[in-house]
Amino acid sequence: MLRKAVENSLLFRDVDPDLLVAALTPGGTRKIAPGEVLIAPGQNNDKVYLLISGHLSIHLDRLEDPPIRMVKPGETVGELSLIGSTRTSAWVVGAEESDVVVIEQETLWSLINRETMVARNLLQIISGWIVSGNKKAIATNRQIEELEGIARVDSLTGVYNRRSFDESFHRLLARCQVNGSPFSLILLDVDHFKNYNDTQGHQAGDRALMALANVITDTIRPGDLAARYGGEEFAVILPETIPQDAVKVGERMRLSVLSCSIAQSDGTPLPGITISLGVGCLRDGATEQTILKEADDNLYRAKEGGRNRVCFTA
Ligand code: GH3
Ligand code: MG
Ligand code: MG
Repeated sequence: MLRKAVENSLLFRDVDPDLLVAALTPGGTRKIAPGEVLIAPGQNNDKVYLLISGHLSIHLDRLEDPPIRMVKPGETVGELSLIGSTRTSAWVVGAEESDVVVIEQETLWSLINRETMVARNLLQIISGWIVSGNKKAIATNRQIEELEGIARVDSLTGVYNRRSFDESFHRLLARCQVNGSPFSLILLDVDHFKNYNDTQGHQAGDRALMALANVITDTIRPGDLAARYGGEEFAVILPETIPQDAVKVGERMRLSVLSCSIAQSDGTPLPGITISLGVGCLRDGATEQTILKEADDNLYRAKEGGRNRVCFTA
């Protein structure tokens, strides 16, 4: 039952079910009777509940008020109040006889810290609440930012965020400098993306960025690090890699993007995108700034040269 619940859950999408079953089994499950209060407002909540069967209802100010949302199997409740230790803001009540998996706060945090995908999923769930306009129930932009900071991932794409990139860049470069190993950096930017947004809509643009992030993470090796550098620009750190090999990685990425299909969340196909890439590397006397500048100058050349290409000058 637990395995089926995690496989269907939004919070645990793309996470190894074996790992989850092992992590969640100790918390156990709980039966909720119709009308039973699982969470009340103003509490210091220290648990998240994953609904396995039945339905829960969420009520804002008073229990008697109509529910603002029904919780379906596979959805979780209680996650928001774990962030920034805010108090619970709504009632969560059994709408019928239901079963939940009880997830202790420490268990969830350890999963967030170990599994980037859990952090990404959590951010997407919470961002969705904001977008859906459930303002009061729900999260402030500050809480999202805080969670992004803790999780170190970008909420849209699931790759590392800029803050994470800056720290990792410093650390990984220093290590290669000490070891005398090569080090390369790729900066890549979506071509004519303003036009894509203008013609297809911002939501389609978001879908394209998500697809691009998947291509990037599928192309790189475990020791490499991909981050959203800003807007429609991504950075990939390749430690222990000579720039000629980074160019090959970039070329593979460019080709994968060309053949990657993009679709709206309902499956409606969207036009493809192309990317331009610039490579920089560790040279004598190089610093973070000079490597970034080299990659950025080469990205500029790729754009000037007609886009949809990788540039590097040995
Ligand atoms: P170029 O080929 O020279 O890079 O042209 P461009 O249109 O891609 O560059 P420009 O800097 O003019 O436009 C970037 C666009 O990216 C504008 C901005 O709205 C869009 N963008 C940035 N971040 C996001 C995002 O998170 N979602 C969406 N949908 N669009 C974004
Ligand atoms: Mg662009
Ligand atoms: Mg740009």
